[in-house]
Amino acid sequence: NYPELKGKVAVITGSSKGIGRAVAERYAKEGVHVVLNYRSSEDEMNEVIRGIEASGGKAVAVKGDVAEEGLAEKMIEKAVSEFGKMDIFVNNAGVQVEAKTHEMELDNWKKIIDTNLTGTFLGVRAALKYFVEHEIQGNIINMSSVHEVIPRPGYTHYAASKGGVKMFTKSVALEYAPNKIRVNAIAPGAIDTPINEETMQDPEEKKGLEALIPTHEIGRPEQISAVAAWLASDESSYVTGTTIFADGGLSLYPSFGPENK
Ligand code: NAD
Repeated sequence: NYPELKGKVAVITGSSKGIGRAVAERYAKEGVHVVLNYRSSEDEMNEVIRGIEASGGKAVAVKGDVAEEGLAEKMIEKAVSEFGKMDIFVNNAGVQVEAKTHEMELDNWKKIIDTNLTGTFLGVRAALKYFVEHEIQGNIINMSSVHEVIPRPGYTHYAASKGGVKMFTKSVALEYAPNKIRVNAIAPGAIDTPINEETMQDPEEKKGLEALIPTHEIGRPEQISAVAAWLASDESSYVTGTTIFADGGLSLYPSFGPENK
């Protein structure tokens, strides 16, 4: 636990399920008041809020699409009106849709880039504006992926978006280091969330995925939210502009591993 997180206020995009939900629940457990976001599933969102409130935490939600200008500002306004301030902004919302590149519809490309990369930009911009104007030494965390470095055939737009998130994170971190605003990314490997539902429900595919991961374990959302808690805490006070990989070794060129000799 990180006692310094108690009473802080965090905004987390795409937090009705998966990793975003786990980050919300972990932050709430640390005593962070959370402003959550969902696009359509109000029931799911309410369930997350009820769960947090039942364990003594404070949570509110704002509906909207991260790709649209204005949502991030609305979430920060909500943080200020409900909890008095905003300290931590987590750009988590992300999507993937499989397509061969030579057949990829422009709409598909745009949806991935608009959500994963432009959505991150819009969140980062709004958070920076708030932090700079209020002279807050805030914290920004962007959900990247191992595909910020591992090529991903069939999802080339996804890999492009996460590669973009990586360099955007580093550049922003450098630009705002003098303001003591920390900006980092997390690169999850294969995590058991709704985004991977199809793979998780197909025993053959699941086995194949486990075989690919050096530790042979598919990750849990809690193993990612633990990194998000550490990055928000003072324990990481000297860490900025980096990506923390939590991937069971997936980014270590597994084909060079001892089992492939
Ligand atoms: P998920 O599909 O389970 O959850 C994604 C959340 O984002 C959902 O709540 C969804 O409604 C929301 N969302 C999607 N598009 C949105 C939009 N335009 N506006 C607002 N909300 C939107 O996925 P997840 O696995 O929890 O993924 C979370 C993040 O982690 C994503 O950025 C994803 O790319 C990244 N990631 C996931 C994995 C994995 O294996 N699960 C691996 C690497 C990176």
